[in-house]
Amino acid sequence: MSRAETYTHAFVRSFPDRLEEGVLYVSVEFCNTAHRCMCGCGQEVYAPLSPRDWTMIFDGETVSLDPSIGNWSFPCRSHYWLVRGGVSWALQWSSAEIERGRALDRMTKSRHYGEETSDTRDHPAANAKGLVARILTWLFGG
Ligand SMILES: [Zn+2]
Repeated sequence: MSRAETYTHAFVRSFPDRLEEGVLYVSVEFCNTAHRCMCGCGQEVYAPLSPRDWTMIFDGETVSLDPSIGNWSFPCRSHYWLVRGGVSWALQWSSAEIERGRALDRMTKSRHYGEETSDTRDHPAANAKGLVARILTWLFGG
C-alpha cells in the first residue's frame, strides 16, 4: 500500500462500478462524492455534500473537500485533507480521538469538528494532552 500525494477529479452523474485510485468523483446532481481511500487500502469513501456534511470547492482546475476525510471505520483509520489536488496527511487517529470525534460529531454535526482536528495536527501539545487523558482512562477505567 502506498499513500497518494495527489489526486485528480471527475465530474460524473453517477459513480462508475469500479472507482479508480487517485480520482475524486463528484456528482453535483446527487450531491455526493466518491473516491478510494488515499492510503491505497482500496476502501471506497463516500463524502456527501450538504451544509452538515462536506463542502466542495471547485476553483476551475482543482476540487477541494472540507472538512477532512476521517476513515476511522476502516482498518487503516486514515485521516487526510483533500486540498487543491493534493492529499494532506494527518496523524493517525487513536481510539480515544475516534470516540471523541464520534461524540462530537453526534452533538454538533458542524464544521467545527474539522477545524478542531486540524488544530490537533498543528499543535503537538494537544496530542500530549490526549495521551494523559488515555492514561487516566486506563488507570480509572474511564
Ligand atoms: Zn485506507
